Amino acid sequence: MKKIAILGSTGSIGTQTLEVVRENGDLEVLGLAAGNNIKLLEEQIREFHPKVAAVWTEEKAKELRENIKDLDVKVVSGMEGLIEVSVLPESEILVTAIVGMIGIRPTIEAIKAGKDIALANKETLVTAGHIIMPLAKERNVAILPVDSEHSAIFQSLQGSPKRALHKILLTASGGPFRGRKREQLEHIQVEDALKHPNWEMGRKITIDSSTMVNKGLEVIEAKWLFDVDIDQVEVVVQPQSIIHSMVEYVDGAIIAQLGTPDMKLPIQYALYYPDRRFLPGDRLDFSALSQITFEKPDLETFIGLRLAFEAGKAGGSLPTVFNAANELAVSKFLNRRIQYLEIPEIIETCMRNHKNIINPTVEEILQTEQEVYEQIESRW
Ligand code: NDP
Repeated sequence: MKKIAILGSTGSIGTQTLEVVRENGDLEVLGLAAGNNIKLLEEQIREFHPKVAAVWTEEKAKELRENIKDLDVKVVSGMEGLIEVSVLPESEILVTAIVGMIGIRPTIEAIKAGKDIALANKETLVTAGHIIMPLAKERNVAILPVDSEHSAIFQSLQGSPKRALHKILLTASGGPFRGRKREQLEHIQVEDALKHPNWEMGRKITIDSSTMVNKGLEVIEAKWLFDVDIDQVEVVVQPQSIIHSMVEYVDGAIIAQLGTPDMKLPIQYALYYPDRRFLPGDRLDFSALSQITFEKPDLETFIGLRLAFEAGKAGGSLPTVFNAANELAVSKFLNRRIQYLEIPEIIETCMRNHKNIINPTVEEILQTEQEVYEQIESRW
């Protein structure tokens, strides 16, 4: 049995990870962590029997303890709780399927405890990649990508020497507003932005996909995961989401990973790497596939993507500003407190107002996040 723990078990990636556990017979769940959804967490606890479960507030933890008092499961809360789940002694892999920068500290502690990381929580790598990647190398810990594009790149890199990699071709669906111009995005409502053409995901990443900020975060994530310069990452719009990403080698050969859009493939690949297991589900049918098309991303309309390239290139604390400003702006948009186009506007304003810190520590990253939040709260 391979022993795992999951941060964010009640979310889109978390529940699909548990489907993978259910469909294979040899994964044991030792720890689960969620935010507020204790109803679903209780169902998961009853089905998967973890030793420890974490929720964010102590109030919810008390409620959960009461609801599962017939079981022998330790319920913990807060950041300490997240960390306790992340470093469980017998666990081998931590699936980081929590959303946002809150994943930084648990991920770092898990690496220090020698756990491999199946990483979905891209915000952690975007803001603290310069700490996480060297630490993982030092502790001989694998960072296995769960994001479908990064899994595709990782799969395309198997069997070739790192020095032969020339360029990463990161594919993008273009989101629900592909082809529109900036003025056509002025009156976008929450419901419009939550309709992704190809993927069912959590609310934050769905909004990020519509603004293409998600692709921007993925560009920076790719830089850290595959140790390349930002200039070596090219975004290619491929609206059908069939090519999940590609790599170009120095001899001009391009290797891609294709498949139907199903997050269980990258999740399962990360959990069993380097093995491949049977995965039930649809297969690509080339006779039914009418076309695969390609476009250049529109950086004039989707400024979030342009800003991500800028932040990724500058490095330091600027990617934290990019990410933190986006996290709060998206949350305000979802709560209908700002307009859609204010999301990139807020990111840009915060980036322009920031004095970059080179090689920020975790404390400086979290401090920068706070400063960005205060700046946004005082103006929007
Ligand atoms: P969801 O919003 O669906 O799920 C987020 C999870 O995090 C939930 O389980 C939520 O708990 C939990 N959570 C939130 N805040 C806290 C907290 N303070 N303490 C503990 N748990 C918390 O997000 P997704 O699954 O869509 O995304 C998760 C991560 O994976 C993101 O970083 C995203 O960018 C990345 N990703 C997602 C993909 C997808 O297809 N969904 C694809 C590639 C990457 P609760 O609901 O109980 O409050």
